[in-house]
Amino acid sequence: EAADLAKGAAVKAADRAHVFHSWSAQELIDPLAVAGAEGVHFWDYEGNRYLDFTSALVYTNIGYQHPKVVAAIQEQAATMTTFAPAFAVEARSEAARLIAERTPGDLDKIFFTNAGAEAVEHAARMARIHTGRPKIMSAYRSYHGATATGINLTGDPRRWASDTGNAGVVRFWAPFLYRSPFHAETEEQECARALQHLEDTIAFEGPQSIAAIVLETVPGTAGIMVPPPGYLPGVREICDRYGIVLIFDEVMAGFGRTGKWFAAEHFDVAPDLMTFAKGVTSGYVPLGGVAISGAIAETFARKPYPGGLTYSGHPLACAAAVATINVMEEEGVVEHAARIGSDVIGPALADLAERHPSVGEVRGLGVFWALELVRNKATREPLVPYNASGADAAPMGAFAAACKKEGLWPFVNMNRTHVVPACTITEAEAKEGLAALDVALSVADEYVTE
Ligand code: PLP
Repeated sequence: EAADLAKGAAVKAADRAHVFHSWSAQELIDPLAVAGAEGVHFWDYEGNRYLDFTSALVYTNIGYQHPKVVAAIQEQAATMTTFAPAFAVEARSEAARLIAERTPGDLDKIFFTNAGAEAVEHAARMARIHTGRPKIMSAYRSYHGATATGINLTGDPRRWASDTGNAGVVRFWAPFLYRSPFHAETEEQECARALQHLEDTIAFEGPQSIAAIVLETVPGTAGIMVPPPGYLPGVREICDRYGIVLIFDEVMAGFGRTGKWFAAEHFDVAPDLMTFAKGVTSGYVPLGGVAISGAIAETFARKPYPGGLTYSGHPLACAAAVATINVMEEEGVVEHAARIGSDVIGPALADLAERHPSVGEVRGLGVFWALELVRNKATREPLVPYNASGADAAPMGAFAAACKKEGLWPFVNMNRTHVVPACTITEAEAKEGLAALDVALSVADEYVTE
């Protein structure tokens, strides 16, 4: 990991000249030139090494450069790099089988996409055709991808610039006790009121017009709000009553992140359609998909499904999925994620919340945690205003800079930091990152008002 300043400068210069970056004002960003990565660490060309508490974009669930998955990709490239989707191909067949064996309920057919947003697009299309109904309901405080349907279903400010207002989307509030949309004081109240609100919204929209309800099983970027135990079973019951398709978006929560293969298992609820991406290949090769129930598969048994993708089930991506799932099974990665969450990360974060006045709440499970940073624990005023940018966002910028100074790469969104390392993070590595977080939170504490 010797410094290579000239190479780093060249990488950076070409990036600045020619790469157009996601979600960014192009002249206001300063991307780090990354030289390499392994396990839960990455490093730059100046010799700085970082512990990654973000798993890239919450997807390297088995860490960077797992040798078995790298070898499987090399092997697939050497034998059959690509082949068209209409053929039966070993890597694709095997990936579909391994995924279907792990998905809940009777989700036994897999439609492969290139990533998460396309999975959401196709789940919405399947639900609309299956029911013959136009509308899809989604929650505020959610993210479902950046394509047309995905961004319109999204319930946070990332949607605003692309919101056509007529995409057949109806939004509702899902439970979140810390900032309760229902002014509830207990989890039981929050759950009951959220379900009543959903019922009322359906009644006034007209149940016969609603094709699907889409929910992140545990919402991710919007804040890792683990729903109360009765909520998803309640939503399932409402969907069944009105013939509405239930879609769980497990793009971020799936493949071990919550300490189960899929977060739905925590609630003992099976959806009718489930989207996945990210962790399915640990992001080594892009892949996503929709897992489809028997009833919805039946709709397309004798009439064609009107949708497809040039690279649906790309062999290189499917080989990466097969190797990733096998590694996760062989190495007990899912069980490890559960244990590191309950025994190490959860208790350590609870301790940080007690000692730091800027930590309003910690919540999560597995390797999927959010810290809600506040100006004041009693009023719960966020450390920065909702959707703050520029000077208003400075306290979170100062916090992130303090993390990086400690060698920790943090996930920051609005007034939150998320602790979302690889599922494979060791206890020692987790403790090292949590110690760095402890130091950086003292910087956030300076903005607290009494
Ligand atoms: N759904 C959820 C829950 C996500 O977290 C994301 C991405 O972060 C997406 C969908 C979109 O996935 P992609 O960026 O792979 O298109």
